[in-house]
Amino acid sequence: MKNLRFLPAIDQLKNDKRFITLLEKQTLSETRLTTILKDHVDLIRNNLLSGVYGDQSFNREQLTELIFKLLYKTLIEDMTDYLKPVINATGVVLHTNLGRARLSSKAVQQIKQTALSYSTLEYDIQTGQRGSRHNLVEHYLTTLTGAEAAMVVNNNAAAVYLVLKTLAENREVIISRGELVEIGGSFRISEIMEESDAKLVDVGTTNKTHLHDYADAITEDTALLMKVHKSNFKIIGFSEEIDTSQLTDLSQAHDVPIYEDLGSGTLFDFKSKFIGNEPTVQEKVAQGIDIISFSGDKLLGGPQAGIIIGKKDYINRLKKHQLARVLRVDKFTLAGIEGTLKSYLNKQEADEIPTVRDILENKKTILKRAQSFINHFSNVNSDFIFTISEGYSKVGGGTMPDVDLKTYLVIVSHPVLSSTKIAQKLRLGKHPVIVRIQQDKVILDFRTISPEEVQPLVNIFLDLSNTH
Ligand SMILES: *Cc1c(COP(=O)(O)O)cnc(C)c1O
Repeated sequence: MKNLRFLPAIDQLKNDKRFITLLEKQTLSETRLTTILKDHVDLIRNNLLSGVYGDQSFNREQLTELIFKLLYKTLIEDMTDYLKPVINATGVVLHTNLGRARLSSKAVQQIKQTALSYSTLEYDIQTGQRGSRHNLVEHYLTTLTGAEAAMVVNNNAAAVYLVLKTLAENREVIISRGELVEIGGSFRISEIMEESDAKLVDVGTTNKTHLHDYADAITEDTALLMKVHKSNFKIIGFSEEIDTSQLTDLSQAHDVPIYEDLGSGTLFDFKSKFIGNEPTVQEKVAQGIDIISFSGDKLLGGPQAGIIIGKKDYINRLKKHQLARVLRVDKFTLAGIEGTLKSYLNKQEADEIPTVRDILENKKTILKRAQSFINHFSNVNSDFIFTISEGYSKVGGGTMPDVDLKTYLVIVSHPVLSSTKIAQKLRLGKHPVIVRIQQDKVILDFRTISPEEVQPLVNIFLDLSNTH
């Protein structure tokens, strides 16, 4: 309590050089800075009253120092980076809350170049005239997928909306009831459809839809036959659905185009490596589907985007719609997509694109990485106990929900700290680590921890070991 009387007055603090310097450096007004200062004085007062500092005694200068130290921390350290890099130790490769795909260095390089200089975003080098940003990655996308034309919008949800609004406004769209899915809690096909003023005609039942269900529903008002890839769940048992390829005859006979929302379309054939059963985008194009859309930051491993490919007539109509301007992507996204697609064109995606590489990573490599982590602790004193165990990782991002990827895990335990406490400390550090807790144990899955992250992760554990 005796310390309290040394607590400096606000006016005194405001005349302090340190306050004046802050006022010069910060963009905050004097009023705002004074309010923050008052909050910090209150905080210290409360700390003194509640005995946070124990028996320690302070003089006026020491308390002033303490207040400014806290103020600096709030204003300078804590204000940096709300969007921080984290180490994803969950083993979920496409973790939607952690930003889905990590970009390849090629993609990052191209984004960096584009950011630092002027670019050909809407400039045609050949003619010296205005160009279109829609054409920038079109060539790569058509070469890779075999489609006639392509365009890119903000995300796949925007792609679905643009397709429905442009091609089916006030007309009917036939879709199987089993495909009226909700993705990630905020995106429902039926609601997007309503929003776009397309009329939903759902056919079949939740578990079974037959070809004749589609055929019977076609009218003069039918604008599209729509298929939605069931990415985040699987109907098993007594069920039947029509593959999009079975709809092509019907589509041609009635001159109604087919649109498939592939969700996380992949250019890499994971099923050829015995991972899941996802059709590739190329296969879908070869089946003659008129319009296909998919996400840029799911299995493709690029930046957030919605990629739309298909027949030229339809894509041109999409490009011309007013909404294309609303949903358009910026130059960084285009640069990121181009950098990503280059790896596919060079057939280097399995090495260069983190998403593809992490999904394919064999468990021996993961084991070595986990061991190299543990080896760092062999000669140091750490309270943490690490053991290696076999386990499973997930693809994530609502993709291949039934696929378990074999992996190696490091199980972390501590003589005093509970698993939730360890997870919390890891989460709240300067370089946050997000872990999985399973059966009351903290688990680090080395599939999603890159080799470059091993040393930082070691340092984080060493710091925690010294400070808990
Ligand atoms: C993920 C997904 C979407 C939404 O894609 P975003 O790029 O996240 O907007 C739409 N449809 C399906 C089938 C999906 O899996």
